[in-house]
Amino acid sequence: MSDLKIKVTDLKKSYGENHVLKGIDLNIGANEVVVIIGPSGSGKSTLLRCLNRLEEPTSGQIIVDNVDIGDPKADINRVRQDIGMVFQHFNLFNNLSVADNITLAPMELKGFNKAGAEAQAKKLLASVGLEDKFDAKVQSLSGGQKQRVAIARALAMKPDIMLFDEPTSALDPEMVGDVLEVMKDLAKEGMTMVVVTHEMGFAKEVADRVIFVDQGKILERGTPEEVFEHPKNERLQDFLNKVL
Ligand code: ADP
Ligand code: MG
Repeated sequence: MSDLKIKVTDLKKSYGENHVLKGIDLNIGANEVVVIIGPSGSGKSTLLRCLNRLEEPTSGQIIVDNVDIGDPKADINRVRQDIGMVFQHFNLFNNLSVADNITLAPMELKGFNKAGAEAQAKKLLASVGLEDKFDAKVQSLSGGQKQRVAIARALAMKPDIMLFDEPTSALDPEMVGDVLEVMKDLAKEGMTMVVVTHEMGFAKEVADRVIFVDQGKILERGTPEEVFEHPKNERLQDFLNKVL
């Protein structure tokens, strides 16, 4: 494995008596694509949200780019800027234009001037196949287009890690392919990616490693070939029988 980007050690997260993450150990190297699979409610979103501190862990350690993000002295805003996140439901500003959605944060937080931010936005929109939507209102877009704008918006902050939480689960089936293509391109360019998805075809094709999470623990991990073709854990076998 190349440089370590993320190192998670014995991560636990509880909501009251609900012990959601029960000791997660996970290393992610630079340029790696890691796909997380597992049943609904197993803690996949909670794990992703701990990685950029949208959630505070109950215990354990998370190191991102050699920074312990639980350290009160860590510059958490800086860490968040380096980690892009794409959600199932886009989380765009619906009443703003596509351009505003992509340019506001880089102008606010990265010192871009308007012209620079707009030039970057146009490039990013072209890279997700939406160069003609620069002036469009977000609410006029389809779900698949919204999700590609959300990816462009995340990339505008020049992250070196991208987290995807079921980015295609809310899309009509005919929209899924375009979004997965954009994600494949990113992977090819060497982006470090952690992707929660039920798209097993994507996982097989793009993932360097696949991780199966069930009831707050990693029950199996390996190459796509190992996890999909030779699953050892019985709960993983059951899960694959349901989703494949
Ligand atoms: P998954 O993404 O695998 O479906 P989640 O991480 O969303 O699982 O949820 C795991 C468990 O944590 C569920 O029981 C869920 O109800 C609980 N949970 C998630 N977020 C919160 C929260 N903010 N407050 C309380 N419970 C939560
Ligand atoms: Mg989830």
